[in-house]
This record gives sequence, C-alpha cells and structure tokens, in this order.
Amino acid sequence: SNNQVFLKTSANDFLDHHHDAHYGGRPTGPSPKELIGNALRQRVESVDYEYCDPGEEDTFFVADLGEVYRQHLRWKLNLPRVKPFYAVKCNPDPKLLELLSALGTGFDCASKAEIEQVLRMGVDPSRIIYAQPCKTNSYVRYVASQGVRQMTFDNTDELRKIARLFPGAELFLRILTDDSSSLCRLSLKFGASLDSTDGLLALAHELGLNVVGVSFHVGSGAADSRAFLKAVQDAQTVFQQAATYGFALKTLDVGGGFCSDNSFEQMAGVLREALDDYFPAHSGINIIAEPGRYYASTAYTLACNVIARRTIRDMAASDSEASSPGGQNETSYMLYINDGLYGNFSSIMFDHQHPIAKVLRAGGQALYGTPAAERTNSHHAIEYSIWGPTCDGIDRITERIRFHVALDVGDWLYFEDMGAYTKCSATTFNGFSNEHDVIYVCSEPGAKALLGVH
Ligand code: PLP
Repeated sequence: SNNQVFLKTSANDFLDHHHDAHYGGRPTGPSPKELIGNALRQRVESVDYEYCDPGEEDTFFVADLGEVYRQHLRWKLNLPRVKPFYAVKCNPDPKLLELLSALGTGFDCASKAEIEQVLRMGVDPSRIIYAQPCKTNSYVRYVASQGVRQMTFDNTDELRKIARLFPGAELFLRILTDDSSSLCRLSLKFGASLDSTDGLLALAHELGLNVVGVSFHVGSGAADSRAFLKAVQDAQTVFQQAATYGFALKTLDVGGGFCSDNSFEQMAGVLREALDDYFPAHSGINIIAEPGRYYASTAYTLACNVIARRTIRDMAASDSEASSPGGQNETSYMLYINDGLYGNFSSIMFDHQHPIAKVLRAGGQALYGTPAAERTNSHHAIEYSIWGPTCDGIDRITERIRFHVALDVGDWLYFEDMGAYTKCSATTFNGFSNEHDVIYVCSEPGAKALLGVH
C-alpha cells in the first residue's frame, strides 16, 4: 500500500532530505527555493502590465508539493504512532489532497462538499472522519449513505440526532481543552467539559450508540504544549469512564493545532511522551490527529501585482528629528496590490496572521531571494504601507514596511507561508475573483513519483 512508502522511511532519509533542502548540494536539480523562484519569475516576466488583458496580472500561487512531502516525513519522524487525518478545511487544493492521499493519510472533513471531494478521489470511507460536533441533518444522512462512519459529538442534542439518523455511526466524544494560548480558539464553541462526559456516555449507552473514541483540539496555531499534556490526561479519564458503560474505546484523536515552525518538534515531543505515558503502545489504542496548517502553510507562496501607488509627503516627520535625519520631510508610499483581506489575505482577519511582503520584481528587475527583496529597518530605506484592491478601509495588509528599493505600479511582491486558511476563506467582495492560478513545482523526487509526474 502507499503507506509502506513511509513505513520504510528512516530517520536518516528524513535528515538527508532536510539537508538537501536547507544546504543545497542536491545532485538531482535546483533547491526548493530556486524552483519556487524560477516559477515566480517565469510567470511575472510573461505579463506586460501596460498591455495585458484584464486578469492576466492577477495574483497567483506557487505551490511546492515537495514541501508537503518533507512535512510528512517530519511528522513520521516525530510522531510515529500518530496517523494524520489532514484537515481539508485548511486548504482543499486537489493536488495537495492527491499527494496526501498517495502518502496514505486520512482526512478530517467538516461538510458534505469536503467529504464528497475526498470520496471522489477514491479514498476509502474509513479514512475519513467527519470531525464536526454540530452537524447538518441532511449531511448525516449523506454520510450514512456513503459509509463514512467516524464522526465527533459533544452534546446530548447531537447524540439524539445521530440516534435518529445514523445509529451505526462510530462516535468520538470531543472534550474541551485549554486553548487560551492558541491563535484561533475553538473551545468557545466546541468540546464537552469533563463534568459532562459521564452524562453523555450514559445517554449514548441508553440510546444504543457506538462510542469508539475520544477527540480534542487544543486550538489552531497552538503555542503551549502543556495543553496537549492536559488534554491527553483528560482523554484517559474519559476512556476509563467509557469502560464503566461497556464501551471499549479504541481510538484517541489528538486533533490539530500543530505549527510548521520549529515549535513543532517541541510540541510533538511533549505529545509523544504524554501518549507513551497515558496510552502506551501495548494498550493497542490507535492514535490519530487532524493537522491542517502543519501540512499546508509553508508549501504555498503568493505573488501579487502592484496596481496603484499613492505618494505621501509626511509633514509630521519634520517634527521628529529621530525618524527623519536632518529634519527633512520623508516621502512614503501607499501601495495597492491586487489581493487583500477579502481575498487570500483573509488569513489576517480569520487566522490572525501577519504575512510579510518581499520584493519579487521592481523596475523590471527580478529580486526574489536577494537581500534587496527583504524588508529592512534602516531609516534610509523607503517606507510603504500595503493595501488590498477593495474599497474598504479595513483592507490593509501591512501598516508599515521598509525596502531599499523603489516600488511602483507593475512591480510584484511575494508572500511566503500562504498555504493555510488563505484561499479557502477568500471572498469575491467588490467583484474580485477568488479563483487564482496555482503553479505547482515539486522539490522532492519521492513526491513526484507518488504523483506520477517527472
Ligand atoms: N480539526 C478540527 C475539528 C478543527 O476545527 C481544525 C481547525 O479549525 C483542525 C482540525 C485543523 O487545525 P490546524 O490547522 O490548526 O491543525
């Protein structure tokens, strides 16, 4: 099976991949950064903003599926006992799902459309969990008809709904967590408190339902690994409670919340130890998770075109000797780009992100990956604010950023780590399209082989 590709992967394989990625030296071709840079440059060089048709200068993504593959190896290395069920809501890009399916992951779906998309790829219904504790009646009937049995619940009304519509479902009791340090809190809305779990299990028993596991979510973009430890401890308490009602629970679902930065190793370390303490391998309990951001974020780079500029002469700057050496007025600029908060930067609103602009092309010169592309703190550099294309004043991407280069209409900016909770929550407000091209590259031969591309 596809799974075996990774069961055979050793820690050394993983380190080799990362060595390649970060330090170059791959004999087989360009580094991931070079591949992404080439794709970005090729595309923007093909656009003549003076003469192009409407939309040709539209914002676009470059996705490196090799990065997704490396993240999967990193997962396997750090959490070998935990089977990921990718949270489709985070980024339902079909190519991303195709690769994850080939890698053997499961899928966490939150709606009929997501379940349909995953089933259409030929994924077995047993690899799907409908991880939404408050479900639509007709969707419950739909999953019953499709054989998607795993689903979560956290309240009595939902149990009665399931008893009526899909009594054969395999139920996960979602418990409350301390998500106070996470980017996006979920426990305000979902999760059974520990003083309600006994009553829920009693009702499930009375209704003749099939509780098979416990799930939790420590909040998306979790920052405190202790939340995982506490949640695992609480989950074990619920496993014991369930046993008193005759439920032999077989799966623990540790949810999502994992970040893709260096905090992952630390977070995974705490979780791994907690699992080994409270759900040791010999217990025979399956462990699954629902990571979204972890897999999608770093694989996507977004390129945006500067469509307008407004020049600001800052009269106030003369009041401040410190910010304006020599007491001269500083000229700064407002840059308007063709994507914003109502588009792929919806992550600023909904996901509390702060995407950082870099310069892709200025004055006809490609700057991707050069020091000139990076922001600077030097007061001699030019100050910009960056705005989206809609008529709403809230549509601001960056309040203040400095570059050494002069930027004007037709130039291009790029933003890294734009794969999670971006495109999927973009609107068409003001008539701007939320359908943007994705150019795929693949910096890992292993991922190419799984996708059947060369
Ligand atoms: N599972 C559930 C039930 C969620 O609500 C979410 C995000 O909201 C996820 C998984 C994915 O979370 P993350 O992207 O932080 O891994």
